[in-house]
Amino acid sequence: MIPNTDPITMIAALVTVFGVAAVVWLLVAGGLRESPWACLCLAAANALLGGSFVLHDLPSLGGGALQAWWSDALGLAAFALVRIAVPLVAERRPPWRLSALAVVVVSTLATQWAEGGISIGQKALLYGTMGVMSLLAGRDAFLLLRARGLRARLSVLLVTPLLVLGLLLLARPLEAFLAPGQTGDLNGGSGFNIVWLWSALVIALALNGTLAFLLLLKLMLEIQRLTQRDPLTDAMNRRALSEAMDAEHERQRRGHRYGLVLLDMDRFKQLNDTLGHAAGDAALQTLVSVVQPCLREVDLLGRLGGEEFCALLPDTDIAGAALVAERMRVLLAAQSFAWNGQSWALTASFGIAESSPDDPSAAEVLRRADQALYRAKGQGRNVVQAVELESPAPST
Ligand code: GH3
Ligand code: MG
Ligand code: MG
Repeated sequence: MIPNTDPITMIAALVTVFGVAAVVWLLVAGGLRESPWACLCLAAANALLGGSFVLHDLPSLGGGALQAWWSDALGLAAFALVRIAVPLVAERRPPWRLSALAVVVVSTLATQWAEGGISIGQKALLYGTMGVMSLLAGRDAFLLLRARGLRARLSVLLVTPLLVLGLLLLARPLEAFLAPGQTGDLNGGSGFNIVWLWSALVIALALNGTLAFLLLLKLMLEIQRLTQRDPLTDAMNRRALSEAMDAEHERQRRGHRYGLVLLDMDRFKQLNDTLGHAAGDAALQTLVSVVQPCLREVDLLGRLGGEEFCALLPDTDIAGAALVAERMRVLLAAQSFAWNGQSWALTASFGIAESSPDDPSAAEVLRRADQALYRAKGQGRNVVQAVELESPAPST
């Protein structure tokens, strides 16, 4: 069923939506320091789309092929900006050269063809390019959402407006066959036109919603990262690691043991006192960059405080933890660290422990690793130590 609406009202509604969206994106670009270039692109894209519909709708401008060409060229530039904005949200390099080239080439070709009135070829080229740009923006947004850990089905749902818009644009030249004589005239009241305009209105809202969601998701993930990470070393902070350890301890009830590697930099106070606090900070960053590659993807490294770190190794026994700790120890001792031309030997001591079903909490496993670390310090540092689990009392 085709809604009984006149095209002028529909176009006025579309222009209003694009105008409001352009102002909102401008405000977001100015007020929020996150992805200002992406927001500016989206403000400009909405403004251009609004302008494109105004040009279509203003017969007082004289109408004709040139006015229609300008309207379509603005639309084309708007889709190029949407295509550029998506990677910008993710702080990736946008394909701006290719997009600008497509706008210039396609609109120039369209002028040549427009001389004899608006041809089907011109329509197919203009709307086809817009459609492809929208589809490509949708693909980029999908990959972006997947990379941020969203499920495939939800990601598809979220980018649907971009994909549907792409298909709608690709379908636009069909009107030339379905309603001959009215080609290019959005003001025409053909059924195809009205349905197309209704879809465009809904999609315009959904499109801006999708892009706003992408930005919001980025902000949410950034905030989550900030609450879980140590700002100096980017290792997990104590609270985040402690939560991960509690969750892993829960998993142990289902038979998954885990190992802990607790490490503490040796004579770190001396390094701070001799080379300065900035050197100490750099040494902590070096330590993390050396030990992190020793871990698997499922392992987690956290900074418990000062120069003390802990690695949580799921499904790992004491022998596995010993291997990891020994690899870390050797690599750190072999690492050259220099500050203002003065070199300094970085070493750490390691205490390892394995969880046991008898442990009431992860804190108990950590306590054993801490005992082992204390022993490592007592043995002259730069060693790995473990504390044996107390064996149950022999039954009599
Ligand atoms: P040990 O070999 O027995 O571990 O001796 P240590 O000097 O490493 O241990 P101690 O606990 O005596 O000193 C830890 C020092 O770490 C003291 C503190 O000033 C320094 N520290 C703690 N947090 C930071 C930080 O974020 N940056 C810097 N540069 N130093 C820190
Ligand atoms: Mg220390
Ligand atoms: Mg310490």
